Amino acid sequence: MDCIFCRIIKKEIPSDILYEDDAVIVFKDAHPSAPVHYLVVPKDHIQSIAHLEGNHKEVLASIIYTAKNMAEKLGLSGYKLVFNVGREGGQVIDHLHLHLLGGWNRKADIEAMPQPSLDK
Ligand code: AMP
Ligand code: ZN
Repeated sequence: MDCIFCRIIKKEIPSDILYEDDAVIVFKDAHPSAPVHYLVVPKDHIQSIAHLEGNHKEVLASIIYTAKNMAEKLGLSGYKLVFNVGREGGQVIDHLHLHLLGGWNRKADIEAMPQPSLDK
């Protein structure tokens, strides 16, 4: 099986890792959809939320709890947590992952936005 996230977990391909423990890894999304965009990924290969079984409850709780801790670590006061499930749900990588998205209202992001010209 050639799973890109399993290869990231095994350090066969590089990623920008924010956090890692026995069960979970958190790394930057390579194509961010928000000023701050990380993926919270279980180390076990589970295909998607639709493939969860009863014995996965603990790892699922770890993912969500880790996302909350990472949001604090990143200084996010508000954020979105998103699971895409299946192709029709926008899932492209078939290894369960939780998107942690935020940072839209940081001062630097607001200052970087194009401003309307005042001299027209
Ligand atoms: P999804 O559409 O929910 O399957 O999201 C997969 C995410 O993985 C996308 O946001 C991609 O930008 C991201 N992604 C794909 N390849 C890599 C990679 N090598 N390193 C980090 N993120 C990746
Ligand atoms: Zn995998």
